[in-house]
Amino acid sequence: MKPSAANAAKKSVAEDAQQVLRAIELIELGARMQVLETELTLPRERMIRLYHELKGKAPPRGLLPSSADWYMTWLANIHSSLFYNAYLFMRHDAGETHLDALTKAYRVYVEHCRTAGAERLLDLTRAWTLVRFFGADIVQMAPCSRCRGKFVAYKYDLCDGMVCGACCPPPRAGKTSKAAAARAAETPEIA
Ligand SMILES: [Zn+2]
Repeated sequence: MKPSAANAAKKSVAEDAQQVLRAIELIELGARMQVLETELTLPRERMIRLYHELKGKAPPRGLLPSSADWYMTWLANIHSSLFYNAYLFMRHDAGETHLDALTKAYRVYVEHCRTAGAERLLDLTRAWTLVRFFGADIVQMAPCSRCRGKFVAYKYDLCDGMVCGACCPPPRAGKTSKAAAARAAETPEIA
């Protein structure tokens, strides 16, 4: 083997290993196949095998949500905004790549839920989908007129004087996050 070919082979072995590690990390964080297929270049069959090995079951079938409505319900909006603020920090202030920013921001979000004793409403696939909605210019970050925090909002909504769900929770908010989780489960998942 010529030196250059040897180097190329070494590089591809390293790249392959990196992709496998990425896949493992994403699967462990709860990513669905669509996330893996979009973010990684490993053959689909290998990712399905990895999923099987890690989770002890086949990856769930079904399509990803196509509507951003879920992110606008009050409690999901708070969770989504928390995640996306962390993502923006990782991406722009810390200079992380998209994938690193995604996984690190998601870990920050998970840790926050754990310390706050809050139910984790946003799964990794929803977090990933949210980043895509930002990329597609469907949503934006808009400031709350009371706390000045930034929250996920529809791109073309007029956000002047917006009050976030944390400052002004709806009356039903007292009924715990279970109701929100139930609503989340009701969200139709369409192509
Ligand atoms: Zn607020």
